[in-house]
This record gives sequence, structure tokens and C-alpha cells, in this order.
Amino acid sequence: MTPHQELIDRDRKVTFHASTHLRDFAHGDAPGRVITGGKGIHIIDKDGREFIDGFAGLYCVNIGYGRIEVAEAIYQQALEMAYYHTYVGHSNEPQIALSEKILELAGPGMSKVYYGMSGSDANETQLKIVRYYNNVLGRPQKKKVIARMRGYHGSGIASGSLTGLKAFHDHFDLPIDTIRHTEAPYYYHRAAEQEGMTEREFSAHCAGRLEEMILAEGPETVAAFIGEPVLGTGGIVPPPEGYWEAIQAVLARYDVLLIADEVVCGFGRIGADFGSHHYGIQPDLITVAKGLTSAYQPLSGVIVGDRVWRVLEQGTGEYGPIGHGWTYSGHALGCAAGLANLAIIEREGLTANAAETGAYLQRQMQAAFGDHPIVGQTRGVGMLAALEFSADPARRRHFDPSLKVGPRVAAAALEENLIARAMPQGDILGFAPPLTTSRDEVDEIVARTRRAVDRVTDALV
Ligand code: PLP
Repeated sequence: MTPHQELIDRDRKVTFHASTHLRDFAHGDAPGRVITGGKGIHIIDKDGREFIDGFAGLYCVNIGYGRIEVAEAIYQQALEMAYYHTYVGHSNEPQIALSEKILELAGPGMSKVYYGMSGSDANETQLKIVRYYNNVLGRPQKKKVIARMRGYHGSGIASGSLTGLKAFHDHFDLPIDTIRHTEAPYYYHRAAEQEGMTEREFSAHCAGRLEEMILAEGPETVAAFIGEPVLGTGGIVPPPEGYWEAIQAVLARYDVLLIADEVVCGFGRIGADFGSHHYGIQPDLITVAKGLTSAYQPLSGVIVGDRVWRVLEQGTGEYGPIGHGWTYSGHALGCAAGLANLAIIEREGLTANAAETGAYLQRQMQAAFGDHPIVGQTRGVGMLAALEFSADPARRRHFDPSLKVGPRVAAAALEENLIARAMPQGDILGFAPPLTTSRDEVDEIVARTRRAVDRVTDALV
């Protein structure tokens, strides 16, 4: 038995893995892999096999693997002061500097940063803020939050409720009862009645559906709307033209707060500091994680805008200190990693690279798959891309789900030593490589993907 196999066997006995077929894994019927290192856009497993990580972990290792500078920043901070809590006004130097940097990047209108460890817990904080805000304003009935079908906001009880994917609800009795889901801005999947619509018309249709929902629920009961600037885990779907403008007009009409979930888009991924900047979104609250530290340490944040902050201050004036806090909020090691990560993004111009090399990625994907017999759509923005497979591209017909075309292409890519992600709902292959990816590396990703897609195509016909 190889050392790698031995490790996997030990793992099967003791670890409960995320998003895994638990029985098959525990009984040796699903594969495992132990990752031991990485450099740039590559990762290496225990056998020494090297892969291009075309998904940057889970769209998070934006600066690439093996950055000594970040490891040293964490080490130095650990030597000096690894941890002290941030309750009742305590702080640490990296937290202060990181909050200043985040607010500088977020731009005008943003006031304070609250830290957590994951995107899910940050969205839990968002929901608590929204409730508190309306209680302070004397509107205790204004508590519902509208998310989108296919949105992804985490997998806790509340954050998983915001998520609009079936697999995260079924068998967990979710969503909880104050969460609603409106139509996804998924132009490619528009229904037959919307077939003739332009993107702008479809955006107006989505905004209309949102307005109908707000009116049906009663505007006095709807507190907030949450959305990712670009739908991520739901399929990597950039919004149709005019979508955010139309949505924001509706929210303004009914005094509904806007939460931008920037966990994937934040810190450069789509070629702007925030997805909100790219699409002209003016959120009241922003959720960040992933790219904030490039996952060198777990860290998330809630960026609170002025309008909400003023009410939070007013609330503590009336009720006393806010009853919200995590032991690890503002963890010094996470904040040190965040600072070192953002310094690399700035110094190396990675946001601009995501725009430029990202545009090249989109063009090369389009050139390789624009006319492919099983690719219905090639889409993306910056360093986010997707191929949506179709049994009949001209008619946008889906494959029979039992054929598992998406997972089969991902498996074929793996044989090419390329990691691309079969997205959880639909036959969609997702790409989110590190923001450091060069044009040559894009060419390699596209070439390997083409071989993988062609192999599955041959097996299907
Ligand atoms: N929000 C978005 C947009 C995400 O993509 C994710 C994770 O993929 C989350 C929230 C949840 O983050 P975490 O997995 O760190 O809890």
C-alpha cells in the first residue's frame, strides 16, 4: 500500500467530509485524495501528482499557492500575539489596519467591518443585523429576507436557508420561515414565455417578479434582499444587462435593504475590487470572505454601510452593548494574513490581471467551445467562467440528469490533471483560477478542458 493510500484509509475511518457521499467514502467506494502542497496555480497530492487548480480551491486562493510572504506574516503575528478577543472594545493592530484597507477598497458609504471565520457565519451576522435594525426602527414585523433561487450564501441553518439550491435544503427542513426565494437572473434558462425577451427585458421581468413577491408578502414585512453580484455556486451566471439597476429600483421603492454577498467576487475576482463596483450596485451591507485572505487563514467580514451603522449605534444607545460576537472575531492571525494577501493583490496588480487575463480566458473559452456540439453556453466575467452542456445547443435542451454529463467532464478533466468544478445544479463546469493565472496557463487550461469535453462527447454519441 502506498503512503497516500494508507492516509486515505485512515481518513475514511475518522473524518466527516463536506459535500461527500458519506457512506461511499467511509466504505472505500468513493475516491479520496490528500493534498500536500501547492505553488502558483498548481497543487500536488501525496503521490506527487500535480494538478492545475482551475478553481483556486473553492474560488478562494486568489494569490495562488505557496506564498511565503503570507506564511511569514502569520508566523510573525503568532510570535507576537496569536490571539486575544475583540469583545468590549479590545483590538489588535492587524485588525485595525485591515479594516482601514477594506473600507478604502469598498469606497464611500461604508462605515465599519465586523469579522467572522466563514462566509456562512458572516451571512448569519447579516441576518441578525437586519433584524436588529428593524427592531430599533420600531418595525418588528419587517423581518423577511428575499434571496434568489440558485443563490449561494452558505450552509448553516439561516445562511443555508438563504441559499437557493435544493441539495442544501432537502432533509434539513430548510429554508426557515422568514426566507423567500425569487427568480434567478438566469437568462439562458428563461422559460418558454420569455423566449423572445432581450436581456434587458428579462432583467425587467426579474425585477417585476421581485416586486410581485414584495407586494404579496406585504412591503411592511420585507426587510432585505441578498444576492451575489454574479451567481456563483448556482452556475456561475453573470447577470443579464440592466439587472442590478432594475432590482435596486424596486428595493428603493419599498425600503428594503440590499446585502451584496461578495464572498466570491470581492477582492478582484471579476476584475474590480468588488463585484458591486463592476455592476453599479450600492449595497447597504456587504459580505466578504474567501479572497480576503486567499484562504491562507479563515476570515470573513460584514461591511456595514453608514445608513445601517447609524441605526446600530442608536440601538446600543437604547438597549446597551450589542448581543453578538464570536470568540474568533477579528482573529489576529486571520487579519495578518488578510493584510499580507491584499498587499500582494495590490503590488502585483492582480485585480487588473483578473480583468485582462480574465477577458483572454473568456475569449479562448468562446473560441474553443462556441460551436461545440455539447456546449450550450460559454459564459463568465473576469476569472470566473463556465461551460453549460446541452443535448441540443440550438434549442438549449438539457441532458438527461442521469447521464451526469457535468461530473463526467470534471472527471475527464481530472484525468488531464486539471481541476474544474462540476457545479451542483445542472450540467455546468465551472472555472475560477487564481488571479495570478497567465495567458500561457489559460491556454493550458483551455487545451486540457477541450480534450476532456471531447472525450465525454465521444462517449455520449
Ligand atoms: N457566500 C458565497 C457567495 C459563497 O460562494 C460561499 C461559499 O462558497 C459562502 C457565502 C459561504 O462561505 P463559507 O463556505 O466560507 O461558509
